Amino acid sequence: MTGDEASLDTIVIAVDGTSGSGKSSTCRGVATRLGLRYLDTGAMFRAVTWWMLRHDIDVHDPEAIAARAEEPVLASGTDPTGPTIAVDGQDVSVQIRTDAVNRAVSPVSTVPAVRSRLLEQQREIIGSGGIVVEGRDIGSTVWPQAEVKVYLTADPAARAARRALEEGGSDVAATEQILRDRDRIDSGRATAPLVRADGAVEIDTTTRTLDEVIDLLVGLVPR
Ligand code: C5P
Repeated sequence: MTGDEASLDTIVIAVDGTSGSGKSSTCRGVATRLGLRYLDTGAMFRAVTWWMLRHDIDVHDPEAIAARAEEPVLASGTDPTGPTIAVDGQDVSVQIRTDAVNRAVSPVSTVPAVRSRLLEQQREIIGSGGIVVEGRDIGSTVWPQAEVKVYLTADPAARAARRALEEGGSDVAATEQILRDRDRIDSGRATAPLVRADGAVEIDTTTRTLDEVIDLLVGLVPR
């Protein structure tokens, strides 16, 4: 085994950034190219949110959420070519992308009991590394010792246009409003807010193609 292979085996690439900045496509592309695992921590927060909605818990009542935060049992599949997320044994990959979850996920994610539960699971999955992890607080809180840290941004209008397209042509103005609301709550919360982590390289994806962003990220990996 060469030194390079050894370092890829244990590397952690932490990618944070605003909603719709291209994190998921970028991270899946980087992980696939380098033969690494991939963890979408946003999907974990979305799955907990879906579970709370399913159990008729008021997503704007932090105490009610905290009281149930230990209950949903999550399972995250880390294959970058087909990531999966299940709650209590049910695959919820589709359900977590609905409008109801889009609107509720940031309030649920402000609740410290939810964050500490998922933090523990995220660290367990990262384990000995060999993984690309995307979220809001990976480089700052979940894995500050990551070898590569990236902060992805993009112009809000570009982010909304991309997200609306992904969601099958939903209204761009409404999508932009939801993204802005999520960014505001994610950046303003007390526990592990969205920040550019110390040492993170900022990449603005507005005018770059997906392949260009993947190339930039792969270029940051120490060889
Ligand atoms: O990445 P995605 O847009 O799917 O994330 C959905 C939401 O989950 C974010 O808007 C944020 O509220 C929350 N989240 C978080 N911390 C993370 C990942 C996601 O608070 N590490």
